[in-house]
Amino acid sequence: MRAVILALSAVLAACGGGEEPAPPAGEVPETVVEAPVADALHMYVLDCGTIEISDLDIFSTAGDYAGMTDTFADTCYLIRHPAGDLMWDLGLPGILAGAEPQTDGVFAVSLEKTLTDHLRTLGLFPTEIEYVSISHSHFDHVGQIDQLLDSTWLVHEAEYNSMFPPNAGSDEDVDLSAAQFSAFDGLETVPFTGEYDVFGDGSVIIFETPGHTPGHTSLQVDLPETGIVLLTGDLYHRAESRELQRVPRFNTDEALTRASMEAFEARASELGAKVIIQHEPASIDPLPKPPEAMR
Ligand SMILES: [Zn+2]
Repeated sequence: MRAVILALSAVLAACGGGEEPAPPAGEVPETVVEAPVADALHMYVLDCGTIEISDLDIFSTAGDYAGMTDTFADTCYLIRHPAGDLMWDLGLPGILAGAEPQTDGVFAVSLEKTLTDHLRTLGLFPTEIEYVSISHSHFDHVGQIDQLLDSTWLVHEAEYNSMFPPNAGSDEDVDLSAAQFSAFDGLETVPFTGEYDVFGDGSVIIFETPGHTPGHTSLQVDLPETGIVLLTGDLYHRAESRELQRVPRFNTDEALTRASMEAFEARASELGAKVIIQHEPASIDPLPKPPEAMR
């Protein structure tokens, strides 16, 4: 039985709408807030797995990637805000942690550390993460939801409906969906369309970039020191995919994906934003990592 609670008003109330505003960039807050609450907006990139791809052909409908190989980073992002924490994307399944790489078709996946272990290095427990959101529901972005079952799920309505089809054609469809995404089913859920301002102050905005999947989303974060960054989700898989506007073969709607790319690029230039391609190692390397991961 699906338990969807439309808790938007409760969530907004809980956020406080500015009861404890973030200190201006560069200033130390006068009152010391109790750990582990963030004193200002921070973003950490978490290593949520590695994906070796033995043939990149499926990543371009243009056919120009056939026979190439690549290594994708699989990344999750912890956004710490004085009003709460958001986990953006949930990586590969935690059961892979420490195991030999698992091969499935062109993919060989591996994971060093679970989200719970990453959070521990920051002095956090998974139960303290108020919000989770996924760019989309593919296997490499939903794997560790089982560790964040106390969080509220912010989800694009179209993605939710693709995961839990309201008019599924058969019991088989319903069963398949239930098995794949069962851990999401009991979460407190806030569906949205268009954009969602997570903390009500414009600093963290989930925005729709549909096409790769029906309700694919990307994330905008206004970091005090870095400026605005846009996390692509899988709108682009590689730096070159962005340069060449390549669309993967496993994609819901190519025309819609191209329209989303155009809107995303317009947004990035309008905001002067730095674009982070989540599977591209060179793109994520410069980002802050939890203390233990720092070299
Ligand atoms: Zn992906």
